[in-house]
Amino acid sequence: MTAGTARGELFILSAPSGAGKTTLVHRAMELVAGVEFSISHTTRPPRENEEDGVDYHFVALETFESMVAEDRFLEWAEVHGNRYGTSVDEVLPRIERGMDVLLDIDVQGAAQVMASGGVVGRLGTAVHSVFVMPPSPEALVARLRGRDLDEAPAIRQRLQGALDELGRVRDYDYVIVNDRAEVASETLAAIILEKRQRRERMRERVRRVLADFHAHGPFS
Ligand code: ADP
Ligand code: 5GP
Repeated sequence: MTAGTARGELFILSAPSGAGKTTLVHRAMELVAGVEFSISHTTRPPRENEEDGVDYHFVALETFESMVAEDRFLEWAEVHGNRYGTSVDEVLPRIERGMDVLLDIDVQGAAQVMASGGVVGRLGTAVHSVFVMPPSPEALVARLRGRDLDEAPAIRQRLQGALDELGRVRDYDYVIVNDRAEVASETLAAIILEKRQRRERMRERVRRVLADFHAHGPFS
């Protein structure tokens, strides 16, 4: 971290699969500078349009298990029969550079990160959580089908999980209903920007401005 740069903070985004998290994350990153996406490790095979190291780090189960044994994950969980995890190496260097980091993780992983309250000890920074809801069951089904990336059984599995996941909404700090994508992504951007202006995080900037004023003495 360069002198005077406040540590970045962590933003968790959870939602039932197909609610539109990926879409919102990409749009919000276009709207706000200084935000980066944490690329998870997964044992799920890549979809046709996915690239290793861009969408996920695609790894074998043995690799994933050895990372768990080495305590390299901030959190991890089994979702729809595959393992997914956020490595500390993926997040910590960005936080230290002052970047805000977005985690697209499921409700089980989110609960692990939020277990210690509003601060993640391993990262030495605050965590904020956002739950993204689809506007209706019909919209969720249409988005999962429209995305056309999963086979029918996988879609059924995702819909079955959706109800359980929606029940966890009350554990989160913020809720965004992803009806219109432009509005929902602006809302996510607004949450990130609001957190940056809190006085605690502005402390170093405030100190520099005040020091400048003191150095100039009284104004004539
Ligand atoms: P997730 O990452 O939550 O699984 P995606 O971002 O992949 O979801 O979105 C699922 C599908 O729904 C995609 O085809 C996406 O283009 C579409 N989608 C996302 N947000 C909206 C929205 N607000 N209105 C209509 N379609 C949307
Ligand atoms: P998908 O296979 O559709 O990309 O993702 C399935 C689910 O896994 C989504 O709910 C997504 O948020 C979640 N997920 C992705 N990465 C992680 C991760 O690193 N940790 C956890 N706990 N869940 C993740």
